[in-house]
Amino acid sequence: MRFTDRERAVQAAVARGLVGTAEPVAGLLDVGGIRRAVGELRAAFEEFAAPGTPVLHAFAVKAASLVPVLRLLAQEGLGCEVASPGELALARAAGVPVARTVLDSPAKTLAELREALALGITVNADNPEELARIDGLMATAPSTAPIGLRVNPQIGGGSIGAMSTATGTSKFGVALRDEGAREWVVRAVLARPWLTRLHAHVGSQGMPLELMAAGVRTLFELAEEINAKAGRRRIDTLDIGGGLPVNFSSDTATPTYREYAALLRSAVPGLFSGRYGIVTEFGRSLLAKQGLVLARVEYAKTAGGRAIAVTHAGAQVATRTVFAPESWPIRVAAYDAEGRSKTGEPVAQNVAGPCCFAGDLIAENRALPLLESGDHIALLDTGAYYFSTHFAYNSLPRPGIYGFSAAADGTVRFATIRSPQTLEELVAESGGAHGEELGGLDGQR
Ligand SMILES: *Cc1c(COP(=O)(O)O)cnc(C)c1O
Repeated sequence: MRFTDRERAVQAAVARGLVGTAEPVAGLLDVGGIRRAVGELRAAFEEFAAPGTPVLHAFAVKAASLVPVLRLLAQEGLGCEVASPGELALARAAGVPVARTVLDSPAKTLAELREALALGITVNADNPEELARIDGLMATAPSTAPIGLRVNPQIGGGSIGAMSTATGTSKFGVALRDEGAREWVVRAVLARPWLTRLHAHVGSQGMPLELMAAGVRTLFELAEEINAKAGRRRIDTLDIGGGLPVNFSSDTATPTYREYAALLRSAVPGLFSGRYGIVTEFGRSLLAKQGLVLARVEYAKTAGGRAIAVTHAGAQVATRTVFAPESWPIRVAAYDAEGRSKTGEPVAQNVAGPCCFAGDLIAENRALPLLESGDHIALLDTGAYYFSTHFAYNSLPRPGIYGFSAAADGTVRFATIRSPQTLEELVAESGGAHGEELGGLDGQR
């Protein structure tokens, strides 16, 4: 999102009441920014891959589980990486072709596997037991769905433990360096003509690019070993996962897809030789910088000499930042009641959310122009994993989400992506239909 587009979009959103007293918080997504990010991703891989290499960029749905966004991405040529029946339903509702849908999840049920194979969706098996289930399904109802096996290259973690999926004991994939595991994978592929892909996703955020490339290199070498043993191309596609980190400290998008693709080109030249199809699964790096959370400041107060702005954006829209502030710091921008950038001496203040627990802070001791009631704040770089992944604490309703496009002449147009949740919907979701049954149970007092 370009700085000037952001300033215009915030002002227009306030002027049109998308955020105001009735709806005190909303998410905004920059459609032009999304299209530019997709263009950069596609161009980076086209530049380095041999002509004719099949490349599928499957967007990780968990990063923005919003049907209109998935539809927009599909129109731009992307597919979807799904990891639950819900995410698959969203991708299907968005019209994402099955040929561009990839199912990864460590806990696929037999029914999910059966449906995916029947639909022809790509399935990446996580472990030997899952592969045995697929054996059973393929024996009774052979499927032409592409099937892969996820491996854990065990190359080590990045700076955020919870986001590192290639540690020695990560729960994902077949741990390749465990005793006998590599040999097992080779035999497993050679014994199954339909097992034609290998998959690795080594982490999300906090992973050094070199470590990511080392994971892809391990994947590539394993495929080469299998194909050499088979004497022909048994593994034909490598799914290298997502995980490109996002810079949350400035408007510049670094590292770029081109930097990563160039690094892959030098660390794993064979990846781009044209001998393998390539699948990627980027999420955060596509959307984080295209979105923001816009919220009203309800009250300004002080406690123990510290200025505190009580806003409507807290743990419900910025869950990771609130619960793990060291790992997920985000930028906060200050706007006045009309949505214009606030100027004035920066004052150290706490930016708090609406939830009823003391730790519901977006930023602590942050230097910003002094916020007053009626002002607005924007949580920047929150287009992925923030407002789209609402946390229902305190029964705060899911905020509305709006896509915008800012024209060169300064006009801003909005399209609704998700309507604000109504209180009726909230009551229904909270068991509102089940009134009498509970009291009818006669347990002992
Ligand atoms: C979460 C996830 C991704 C996306 O990671 P980002 O950091 O958002 O790019 C891709 N693949 C798998 C298997 C994942 O679990």
